[in-house]
Amino acid sequence: MAIIVLNDKCKGCKLCVKACPFEAIEMVGKLAVINEKCTACNQCIPACKFDAITKTEEKEGTVDLSEYKNIWVYAEQRKGKIMNVALELIGEGRRLSREISDEAKVCALIVGNNVEALAKECFEYGADSVYMIEDPLLENYTTDGYTKVIVDAVKEHKPEIVIYGATHIGRDLAPRVAARLNTGLTADCTRLDIKVSSYMDYAIKNTTLDVSTLDPNSDDKGLKQTRPAFGGNLMATIICPKTRPQMSTVRPGVMQKRERQAGATGELIKVKPAIAKSDIKIEILDIVKSAKEIVSLTDAEIICSGGRGLGDSSGFELIKKFADKVGGVVGSSRAAVDAGWIDHSHQVGQTGTTVKPKIYFACGISGAIQHLAGMQTSDIIVAINKDPDAPIFEVADYGIVGDLYKVIPQIIEQWDNAEA
Ligand code: FAD
Repeated sequence: MAIIVLNDKCKGCKLCVKACPFEAIEMVGKLAVINEKCTACNQCIPACKFDAITKTEEKEGTVDLSEYKNIWVYAEQRKGKIMNVALELIGEGRRLSREISDEAKVCALIVGNNVEALAKECFEYGADSVYMIEDPLLENYTTDGYTKVIVDAVKEHKPEIVIYGATHIGRDLAPRVAARLNTGLTADCTRLDIKVSSYMDYAIKNTTLDVSTLDPNSDDKGLKQTRPAFGGNLMATIICPKTRPQMSTVRPGVMQKRERQAGATGELIKVKPAIAKSDIKIEILDIVKSAKEIVSLTDAEIICSGGRGLGDSSGFELIKKFADKVGGVVGSSRAAVDAGWIDHSHQVGQTGTTVKPKIYFACGISGAIQHLAGMQTSDIIVAINKDPDAPIFEVADYGIVGDLYKVIPQIIEQWDNAEA
């Protein structure tokens, strides 16, 4: 879709210029002209009293899909540190590239200022190439600045797929880039596939999906992007058959990071950005960390989660004590969140956070499928539950059958003894 001005109807009244929040309309002589800052937000269309502005639909088949090659992973960095999810996505990108062809490459895209040193980490986690966009104006993330340089780079280098972590920044950036490029975006994916057959393997196990119309021998190489829909009650698989690149954001903690190959290298491609101060509408004066307690479940190495078995909200005092003792973070089941015992930011599971810690303690949690969906890839699972038949024991590496109010204080005591 694109916004266009119908020159024969434009009266040069400038109402559209005033209505545009993005300074995307300029007057050239007596005619309004849309520039590259347009986000197709539509504000100008009703503002024009002469019906001189309209939206065009992209004609089918106008994009030559064969021009687009390779998989790009947006390697989000903050203050010179690559986000864990970017490394997970480089691993996933490698898996997908193998399903596309032997020639398909996985490329990390790093945007920032003085960030060249980060390329090494991307190579060591599996990137074949790194596209590096550096400029002092890109020191801190801004929606305008980062969108501009990424859109320019995508137009020039034509990646077939671009994936972003579904972080706060990824969720802000990816839709803006998609709108500028006139392509689709599937947000918050939990599964990506290329081959129909590998997608079917997954879909058959997941009984909410109907695969009866799929041909396992199809050579379709489009990206199948799966995400929970309708509050997690079904999984939807979304394709982007007519435009490129195919774009997704992916939840942190869902994909597998590759084993780090120390010393691995690849091709570093420096992209010179065309960016000016006037391209960025906001000015960052200071970055202040929120005073609110931040729950970083995705990066936690140890998580102590409590469920309905705690009985009431005060049970989380014991879970917090336990977590502090073992150097962990407090998680919870949805039942505990729904009961109002703890904030949703602690919830683990299908409609909460997906986690992959070294040790996951499930205390008074039954092990419903929606909870398991968010924690079953943890390295070690320890379950404490008074019901020996609780389903959580089926995924647990260590199970303790007993009352959590007796078991957890004993673990804390043992820990103290070991420390003494
Ligand atoms: P329960 O199932 O009630 O289990 C409590 C457990 O505690 C029992 O096994 C009991 O034996 C044990 N227990 C009781 N007292 C003690 C004690 N003193 N000591 C030791 N053990 C004790 N759930 C999530 O967690 N995360 C999600 O993201 C999520 N998303 C969902 C999305 C959808 C669309 C739906 C329909 C549901 C979702 N759920 C989710 C809810 C999920 O189905 C379960 O209802 C929920 O996980 C149950 O939480 P629980 O295990 O704490 O409670």
